[in-house]
Amino acid sequence: MANAAEEIDAVVVGAGFSGLYMLHKLREKGLSVKVFEAGAGIGGTWYWNTYPGARCDVESMDYSYSFDPELEQEWEWTEKYPGQPEILSYLQHVADRHDLRKDVILETRVTHATFDERTSRWTVRTDQGHEVSAQYCVMATGCLSQPKFPEVPGLETFAGPWYHTGLWPKEGVDFSGRRVGVIGTGSSGIQVIPFVADEAADLTVFQRTPNYVLASFNGPIDQDRVRDTKANYPQAREAARQSIFGIAVDMPTQSALEVSDEERREVYQRGWERGHLNAILQAYTDLIFNEESNETAAAFIRDQVHARVNDPATAAKLEPRGYPYGTKRPCLDTRYYETFNRDNVHLVDLREEALVEITESGVRTTAGDYAFDTLVIATGFDAMTGAIQNIDITGKDGVSVRDKWQDGPDTYLGLALAGFPNLFVITGPGSPSVLSNMIVSIEQHVEWISDLVGYMSANGHSVIEAEAAAEKEWTEHVRAVGDMTLFTKADSYYIGANVPGKARVLMPYVGGVAGYRQKCEEVASAGYAGFELK
Ligand code: FAD
Ligand code: NAP
Repeated sequence: MANAAEEIDAVVVGAGFSGLYMLHKLREKGLSVKVFEAGAGIGGTWYWNTYPGARCDVESMDYSYSFDPELEQEWEWTEKYPGQPEILSYLQHVADRHDLRKDVILETRVTHATFDERTSRWTVRTDQGHEVSAQYCVMATGCLSQPKFPEVPGLETFAGPWYHTGLWPKEGVDFSGRRVGVIGTGSSGIQVIPFVADEAADLTVFQRTPNYVLASFNGPIDQDRVRDTKANYPQAREAARQSIFGIAVDMPTQSALEVSDEERREVYQRGWERGHLNAILQAYTDLIFNEESNETAAAFIRDQVHARVNDPATAAKLEPRGYPYGTKRPCLDTRYYETFNRDNVHLVDLREEALVEITESGVRTTAGDYAFDTLVIATGFDAMTGAIQNIDITGKDGVSVRDKWQDGPDTYLGLALAGFPNLFVITGPGSPSVLSNMIVSIEQHVEWISDLVGYMSANGHSVIEAEAAAEKEWTEHVRAVGDMTLFTKADSYYIGANVPGKARVLMPYVGGVAGYRQKCEEVASAGYAGFELK
């Protein structure tokens, strides 16, 4: 345990991709750093989400750090889309390679961070009794790290074991011979369901909103792709940085409505066969802006559901409808739809019979009771703001982040908050964040922050704070760009709709990774325009 009020240069909260790289970069700048991590291991998302089937849906060659050129040459990914164990061992390898573990304090949750206006330092306290005073405080707390539970009563009364996908037990779960209920069909649900179905005696899936699920065509990594990428990694990384979603794709030039039905279908078919998150979404210029265009892609995906599910009534329930394709996070699957062809798998459509409560014996809907031995809760996360608001963060004038963000998370560039000097957020609301390949966004934020720290010490500054006017202007820009798209048409976690009472505001910046990056670079080259430095 650290000494009381130990003085260090920087506290980083969280030891996932963000926190580990932040530690490395701040150390390079000569700072003393401590990382606090609530989990018993490093890895963040890839430490917590150990449910069977957990997997990345950005290709492994792209979902990896670019900062260590030797590492990216040496590391050998085995699959097109890496599974959770492989990503976790990659992160553990990075931590060992850069000797990161010695500054990470595990099983320690930061509970309070308080800015002292007299000393211009942050006092950070943990649930293990640490009290640390630091010049900088970086929230690397993750956008999808605060689990969210179903908003119905009774989970605590359920007699059997239950598991949230984001808090999966490390020893694994044995479903054999059990009657299992799974609530939720987002990316986590669609990944875990086929594996539960393999083992369980009987599986019932409770679906509220059907997702647009594309086939991943995952498999052993293509060695030609590995050779090509490794031969051109700097260019490949730069192409990702200069893309919209942090994944380089050929940019479209036409509207979906400019081409014949036949041509469009062929394009979508080719996109489908690539097994890639954005191959269809970025096939035409206007899929995310124009409902009529979007519907052409949505209809194509619905047809794929019918092609994969034998029972037409079940396929009809699984068909994604009622919101444009891409406005909730699309999913990539392995065997998801085919799972509904099994005799031991049943689908309950919660739009026909709403969830009422969880009982001692199972799940009650408006249509009746379902009995289970085990429940899997795949209801997602209080995304983007949940983990930050879970900490008592108090800035100038005693204002807390919780109060400041009551009507939505205002930030400057998704990186900083007016009233909270020397506090930074990695992939915060107002940055591309969950709408991007997050490793590209994480690296950009970490490097921007460490450059800023270098600039401050080179220029004799010790305090930096986002100006309220710059924050307001950026927040308005984020919302204005969002309003040009279809993103606000779906009840997604992007707009906070999955958490009752949360402000309904589009949180990630939809202006694209490249444009956003350019804006951050312009701010830095103008001597951190929009910030006050002291
Ligand atoms: P995290 O990995 O979430 O790490 C944050 C850490 O902070 C956690 O370990 C948490 O315990 C810790 N923490 C939070 N609050 C506190 C506190 N108060 N005190 C101490 N510690 C705290 N992104 C993609 O781009 N592509 C994908 O395919 C993809 N797949 C995903 C699959 C799953 C199952 C999930 C849940 C997310 C996925 N993501 C994906 C998003 C993923 O979260 C990011 O890619 C990335 O791993 C985030 O890294 P991070 O370090 O920012 O946050
Ligand atoms: P999610 O996408 O938010 O999905 C949660 C699911 O639970 C949805 O189907 C939701 O229905 C349902 N749900 C929530 N509350 C409910 C309630 N009260 N009653 C009934 N159903 C309820 O969460 P997630 O699946 O954990 O994924 C979160 C994000 O993590 C993903 O979008 C992605 O960014 C990342 N992720 C990625 C992968 C991957 O493939 N790489 C895997 C897992 C996670 P509604 O849609 O109706 O709200």
